[in-house]
This record gives sequence, C-alpha cells and structure tokens, in this order.
Amino acid sequence: VLDRGDQLRKELDAARLGGATIGLVPTMGSLHKGHASLVRRSAAECGLTAVTVFVNPLQFGAGEDPARYPRNLDHDIEVAEAVGADVVFAPPVAEMYPGGRPATTVHVAGVDTMEAASRPGHFDGVATVVTKLCNLAGPCRAYFGEKDWQQLQVVRRLIEDLSFPVEVIAGPTVREADGLACSSRNALLSPAERAAAPVLYRALTRGAGEDDPADIRARMVAVVAEEPLVTLDYAELVAGAHGGWRALVAARIGAVRLIDNMEVSNRCADA
Ligand code: AMP
Repeated sequence: VLDRGDQLRKELDAARLGGATIGLVPTMGSLHKGHASLVRRSAAECGLTAVTVFVNPLQFGAGEDPARYPRNLDHDIEVAEAVGADVVFAPPVAEMYPGGRPATTVHVAGVDTMEAASRPGHFDGVATVVTKLCNLAGPCRAYFGEKDWQQLQVVRRLIEDLSFPVEVIAGPTVREADGLACSSRNALLSPAERAAAPVLYRALTRGAGEDDPADIRARMVAVVAEEPLVTLDYAELVAGAHGGWRALVAARIGAVRLIDNMEVSNRCADA
C-alpha cells in the first residue's frame, strides 16, 4: 500500500523498465464486485495492476459531502489483493492537493450534458483527478466501468484530446442479483430504500422493449414513478453502439443519488 505519489511513480517506472504493462484501476474505494471485475481484468491483461483508492473532494458539488462517502481501506486492500492487484495507492487529500483546491483544473467540454446539468463541476473534478493519476502512473492501460457511462466518455475524450499515453479499457456494469448496479453508495440505503432501488434497472429493461425513443423515455419515467421512495432526476437517451440508443437514468432515493445505464436499442437512430 502506497500513499505518496512519488512512491507510485517509482514503483510503476521500475515495473515498466522490467517489461511489465501497467494496469491502472482508479476508484473511490469501498470496493465491490464492479471494481473487482475491473481489477481482475487488469490483472489478467497487465503485468502490474495498481488500484487507486481516493475519495476525490474535487468531484463533490455543493450539498454533496465527501465525508459521508463510505470508506473502508482495510477491506479495500483485502479485496484488491484477492482479485490480483499488486499495488494499492491510497493517498491522503493533502498528498493529491497539497495547496487545497488546485489552481489548475481540467474541463472537458461537450460530452457530459445530463450529469453536468445535475452536478455542476463534477466532471471537472473527475477529469482533474484522472489527469493527476495518469501523470503519476505513466504509460498504462486504465480500466473504467460502463456503469458511469458519461464519465467514461469524458475520460476517453480527455485522454484522446491531451494525448495521454493511456489506453482506456471499459468494463461492463456488474449488478446484484435483483439488477441493481453495484455501487459504493448502495451501502448508504436503508433496507426499504435498498428494496426500492432496483426500479432503475427495471426502468432500463422495460424501456428496452420499445423502439421509438420517445416511447423508451416515457416507459422509463412511468416505471420510476411507480416507486414512491424514488425521485427521478433524469431519464435520457444518447447515441449508443451501431446507431442505437443508450438509456441513462439518475434518481434520488432519500439522500442517496444513484445512476445506471443500458444499451436499449440497436435500431438506427433515425429509423
Ligand atoms: P467509483 O469507486 O464509484 O468511482 O468507481 C470506480 C470505477 O469502477 C469506475 O470506473 C466505475 O465506473 C467502476 N464501477 C463502479 N461501479 C461499477 C459496476 N457496478 N460495474 C462495473 N464498473 C463499476
């Protein structure tokens, strides 16, 4: 376990010199099956896998408290090692942002419409910390989950636009048995809220039964409306693979905000 950026850089430089490909798996910790799938894949594909555990204060907006985010570093180290991580990098906030809020931040324009509207500044925080982690790690393969679809687009764009020596690898969304996408935030749900949470997954799967984008959206909105504990933030469609649609949904359950997404149609977008 490393907590200083210079240690991480040194360790990964040495591994690269020895011929290893570096796999980087950035996380905010409280590792679950979704994170584990990314670490496993990295361990299978790379000579050295580094998991970073850092609750990045920069990506929390007003009214979002990083202190409330679930943390459990001992558990994270255990899980990360069990699924093949070689290094866990868990820096304190003062290591990443020694001067407090950095004067330099990174803004990726134009790919983040829905989440950006709901969480102003969020993706600047994400892009800034991903930039720092990539600069510390050096040339690598970086693993991100499709669960955070808009984040994945922001990261891909950042890495392409700024020529990072990083190959982005996307892993599929891992779900609980009832369809709820694994998320560290699920631990914050009360039992009743947890029971209500799979409505996001149901909305996506029932939306997927429609062809017309307006019908997909209406179906999603109607499904979420059936669940009184859940308040819809947005249900939107974006261009998916092969000219189809990907549905994105965000909702609040009590104090917890959950997001999910799914490829819902492989019809041509203008059909
Ligand atoms: P987080 O710790 O929530 O910031 O997530 C760290 C990484 O794990 C991000 O790339 C996420 O997209 C990914 N991730 C989170 N939840 C899941 C999931 N259920 N399935 C797959 N990847 C996930």
